[in-house]
Amino acid sequence: MKIINLTTWALFVGLLFFWCPVSQAQSGADTASKAQALSDIQSHYDEYKKIALQIWDYAEVGYKEVKSSALLQATLSAGGFTVKAGVAEIPTAFVAEYGSGKPVIGILAEFDALPGLAQQAVPEKAAIDGKNAGHGCGHHLFGTASVAAGLEIKKLIESKKLSGTIRVYGCPAEEGGSGKVYMVRAGLFNDVDVVIHWHPGSDNAVTLTSALANKSAKFRFHGLAAHAAASPDRGRSALDGVEAMDNMVNMMREHIPQETRIHYVITNGGKAPNVVPDFAEVYYYVRHPKKDEVVRIFDWVAKAAEGAAMGTQTKVDYEVIGGTHDLLLNRTLAEDMQKNLERVGGVSYTAAETAFARKIQASFTYKVSGIESAAMVQPLKEEKDGAASTDVGDVSYTVPTVGLQAATWVPGTPAHSWQATACGGTEIGTKGMMVAAKTMVLTAIDLYTSPTLIKKAKEEFVTEKGDYQYKALLGDRKPALNYRD
Ligand SMILES: [Zn+2]
Repeated sequence: MKIINLTTWALFVGLLFFWCPVSQAQSGADTASKAQALSDIQSHYDEYKKIALQIWDYAEVGYKEVKSSALLQATLSAGGFTVKAGVAEIPTAFVAEYGSGKPVIGILAEFDALPGLAQQAVPEKAAIDGKNAGHGCGHHLFGTASVAAGLEIKKLIESKKLSGTIRVYGCPAEEGGSGKVYMVRAGLFNDVDVVIHWHPGSDNAVTLTSALANKSAKFRFHGLAAHAAASPDRGRSALDGVEAMDNMVNMMREHIPQETRIHYVITNGGKAPNVVPDFAEVYYYVRHPKKDEVVRIFDWVAKAAEGAAMGTQTKVDYEVIGGTHDLLLNRTLAEDMQKNLERVGGVSYTAAETAFARKIQASFTYKVSGIESAAMVQPLKEEKDGAASTDVGDVSYTVPTVGLQAATWVPGTPAHSWQATACGGTEIGTKGMMVAAKTMVLTAIDLYTSPTLIKKAKEEFVTEKGDYQYKALLGDRKPALNYRD
């Protein structure tokens, strides 16, 4: 037995000796490009930090991101990109390009903030005077890291280490505005080979979790104003219409698939109790892992609105505001990105950041993972049904798409919270953003240098998509540029 073992060992060592130099020779150029790109991008950290914190401060909501979009565009222009702004009939959307020919790699950049989430960069809840919106989803980091990655790839193309085209897509209004859907509809991704994206988060992980398809609309009820005490019989309450609709939808919940998520806010419920409201509005989201189910349930909700109007002798109409697909995952690309994320590693905190993180974690009412998990990379884990929605879904049904999340928030921090806005205004956020930027650069290098990887990713895309023909859930409406008004 001993002899056999020794022989096997000798064979193994021999093979290693014979095989290693070959594999190193093949990947030598990429490894040098990767090492150079990693150190170069890090040397620009202070500039990217400044840009991200500037956009954090602008905190502009969907389709109003004038200054944020202009700053990212200017950064790309200064770096040698050709920028086309105002694409897809959206003033703040842009496509920035460098290079020529194939492959064409796209990187998505978001930059919209959320209403009601203004917060100082401190570890306790603290509003900012005169400010409403805040970057509770970290899109200021999202946009900046994607621009940083694009600029780094551009340098490698410029120095002839890579060949092909790099595009950075400036994607407005992810939060409810479905910005990318219009960009997909306008054909802006048609010649792209692979799209790379990322999202801020509270750990470092490559995305193999799908998203919920989503369709949203504002239902507007019209009634008849009258004195609420002296002549209520002459009035018809638009708010009654809204409340009757909400009641019916809440009863629906028992009879629809349980993975469904329906939520609403009453955006206008009348102005004074002594006036029968002649106008009221309710804003609905309908979500489900499958887009067909979303359409079916949304149509049912619309029927509830009609019934409510009939019963309250009011009139109703509705405007579809957004509609996004679930996320079509690509395991081929995810496995490649995982290797690169593991090479980059997570975020380590200074003593002051650890103290900040402890205070943030103390504000949670539930158990969360330890602070040290920000420095770790999660193993690749596939989950079909996601818990959130994103307009990246529509891109993923058009082009093979891969993404990751990076720990820009203290472990355990939920998105859309004051804690997320707070972390995003510190170096916890900007250091996490660099993990994403670096991982995207390394993944792009693999794509430019390995036609086989792109081919395999495309084959998987075709198989997974099947015979589905892309159709925007929001129909042919024009961008809802004022949906935040
Ligand atoms: Zn987000």
